[in-house]
Amino acid sequence: MITRFAPSPTGPLHLGHAYSAILAHDMAMAAAGTFLLRIEDIDQSRARPRWETRIYDDLSWLGLSWPTPVRRQSDHLPTYAAALDRLWRDGLLFPCYCTRKDIQTAASAPQEGAAMGPDGIIYPGTCRHLPKPSMRPTDCALRLDMAQVAQQISYIEKGEIHTIAASFLTTAIGDVVLARKDMGTSYHLSVVIDDAAQNISHVVRGRDLAEATPIHIILQKILNLPTPAYHHHRLIRDENGKRLAKRDDARAITTYRAEGATPNDIRQMVGLPAA
Ligand code: GLU
Repeated sequence: MITRFAPSPTGPLHLGHAYSAILAHDMAMAAAGTFLLRIEDIDQSRARPRWETRIYDDLSWLGLSWPTPVRRQSDHLPTYAAALDRLWRDGLLFPCYCTRKDIQTAASAPQEGAAMGPDGIIYPGTCRHLPKPSMRPTDCALRLDMAQVAQQISYIEKGEIHTIAASFLTTAIGDVVLARKDMGTSYHLSVVIDDAAQNISHVVRGRDLAEATPIHIILQKILNLPTPAYHHHRLIRDENGKRLAKRDDARAITTYRAEGATPNDIRQMVGLPAA
C-alpha cells in the first residue's frame, strides 16, 4: 500500500489537514506500506516557501515521516506539458478564451441560473468548435473535449461493449480545464500524473474532493494510467458545522502547538486513537 498527503503550500495546515495526513499515514503503516508527501505548488501566485517549510515542520511534529526528496509539482511542469501535447495530438483538447464572466453569462438560463458540475459551472461549450491550430497553443486555457473522450471510453455490460453517451459527460461533468493559461497545467491533470508517477495505490482524501474523482478516473483512462483505490474521508468541521478553511488560523496546527498541545491532543481532537 502506498498512500500520500498532497497539500498546497498556500496557508497553514489546520485540523482537517492533520486528520487527512494522519489517516493516510496510519493506513499505510498498518499495512506495512509507504506514506508519501507531495507538495502541490502549481499555483505559483499563491504558493510560498514559508508555508512549505511549515508543512514539513507540522507534519514531523505530528510524528509522521516520509521518504525524501519530496515530489514538488513545480519541478515537473515539462511532464504535464508532455501529457497535454499527447492529448492535443489525440484531438481531446480545445483552446478556450472565455473569461469567468463569459462562462457565467453563457451558462445561465434566465430562471434557473447555471448548472453546476464537479468542477463548478458546467462549461456551455462556447469555444468547443473553434478551429484548432496544429500546434498546441499556450496563450489560453485548454479544455478536455468530453464528447471526444466519450468515444474513447468503453465498458462491458452483459457481454456487450458500450461507449459512454457523450451527452452524459458534457452535461454531468462538462469540458473541464486541463491547462490554465497562467499555470500551463491544472489540479486535475497534475494530480493524476503524480499519483501514477508515485505509484499511489490508495488515494486517501476528504469528501470535498469526491466529486473530482470521476474526472480523475476519466483522465487515467485516456492517459493509460492505473486507477488507484479511493477513500474519501469525513471532513473536520468547526462548532457551527462549517468545513475548516485555510484561513481558519484559529485551528492552525501551529496555534495549538503554541498553546502547548501535544500530537496526541491533536489526534484526539479529530477523533483518532493516540499513537
Ligand atoms: N492539493 C489538494 C488540496 O490541498 C489535495 C489534492 C488531493 O488530495 O487530491 O486540497
